[in-house]
Amino acid sequence: MSRYPVGALAFCALALGQTQSLTFEEYRPKNSLVVPQSPRTKAKFPFVDVHGHPRSMISDAKLPQLLKEMEALNMRMMVNLDGRYGEALKKTVERLNAKVPGKFVVFANLDFANIDDPQWSAKSAAQLEQDVKNGASGLKIYKNLGMDLKDGKGQRIKVDDPRFDPVWAMAGKMKVPVLIHTAEPALFFAPYDKFNERWLELTEIPSRRRPPEKYPSWETIIGEQHRVFRKHPKTNFINAHLGWYGNNLGELGRLMDEMPNMYTEIGAVLAELGRQPRFARKWFIRYQDRVMFGKDTYEPVEYHTYFRVLESNDEYFDYYRRRHAFWQMYGMDLPDEVLKKLYYKNAARIIPGIKESNFQ
Ligand SMILES: [Zn+2]
Repeated sequence: MSRYPVGALAFCALALGQTQSLTFEEYRPKNSLVVPQSPRTKAKFPFVDVHGHPRSMISDAKLPQLLKEMEALNMRMMVNLDGRYGEALKKTVERLNAKVPGKFVVFANLDFANIDDPQWSAKSAAQLEQDVKNGASGLKIYKNLGMDLKDGKGQRIKVDDPRFDPVWAMAGKMKVPVLIHTAEPALFFAPYDKFNERWLELTEIPSRRRPPEKYPSWETIIGEQHRVFRKHPKTNFINAHLGWYGNNLGELGRLMDEMPNMYTEIGAVLAELGRQPRFARKWFIRYQDRVMFGKDTYEPVEYHTYFRVLESNDEYFDYYRRRHAFWQMYGMDLPDEVLKKLYYKNAARIIPGIKESNFQ
C-alpha cells in the first residue's frame, strides 16, 4: 500500500510520542461532538428491502436466524434478487413460499451462456415469461452487463444491445420490474489522484479502479442504460444505487422527470444522502413516489445507520464504512408519509407479490 504522510498528522503523532508518522489510511479520529442523539435499531415502519442478496441466509438451516434478524429490524419482507432461472428459480420460490409465506419475493436472472446464438433473445424472453409464471416478481440485471460481459468475439456487450430488447419488452408485458445495476460510482472511472473522493477505497481495493484503457467511460455505460429506459417506456426499471447519481440528485431528478418508468433505490449510497440532509430531504419529498428502500449487502447492524439517516434529525454521526465516506452523517428527518412510501408503498405498487396490507 502506498504511503501518504500528512504533515499535520505527523505532527500529532510526534506530540503523542509516537516514532512513526501517521498515514491517512491509519488515521481514525473519534467523533468528540456532544449533541442530542437518537440512534435507531429498528425502522419506524415495517419495510421491504428491495435490494436483497440474502444468499446462504435463506438456506433451510439459516432461515430462522434471518427471520429473527428481520423482525428485529422491522423488515417485513425482502426481495431476493438472486433467483436465477428455470428449475432453480421455481424451487426457490416454492420453498420460500412454503416455509415462510409472505416474507420473500424472488427476482429472476438471465442466462448469458449462448448469448451469440441468434435464438438467445427469443429463448431468454420466453424463459423470463416462464419464470414469472413460476412466481418470479421481477428481473435483476447485474453490473456485468455493460462492464465485463463479452460476446464470442471478445467484444463488450453494451447495456442497450438490441439482443436484450425482447427481454425488456417481456418484463413490461408480464408487468414485472427490472432492477438493474449498471456500472459503478463515477469516481471509480475518474482519475485516481488526490482529488478523487473515493481515493481511499481505490487505494485499499485497487481492483475497483476503472482506467480508460480498460473500460469505457462512466458516461458511456450510463448513457446506454438510459437509452434502454427511453426505448422501453412500458417497462418499469428500478435503477439501483440511485443510478449512481446520489452526489447529483438534481440531475437524477431531471432524468426521472424525463423517464417516468425509472424508479430507484438507495442501496449502498446512503453516505451520499447523509452529507446533504437538507437538499436530500426536499428531493425525497418531491420524488416520494419513485424511491424505494434497498440495502444490497446483508449486514443487520448496517441498517441501523440507514434508519438514522432517513428518520432522525441527528447531526454529525458515524457512517459504517470508512472507504465509502470519510465524512459524517446527518439525519434527513423524513416525514412519515414519505417514509412509508420509501419503506413499502412504492414497492407494493410496482412489484407483484408485495402487498401493502402486509405492512399494516
Ligand atoms: Zn445487487
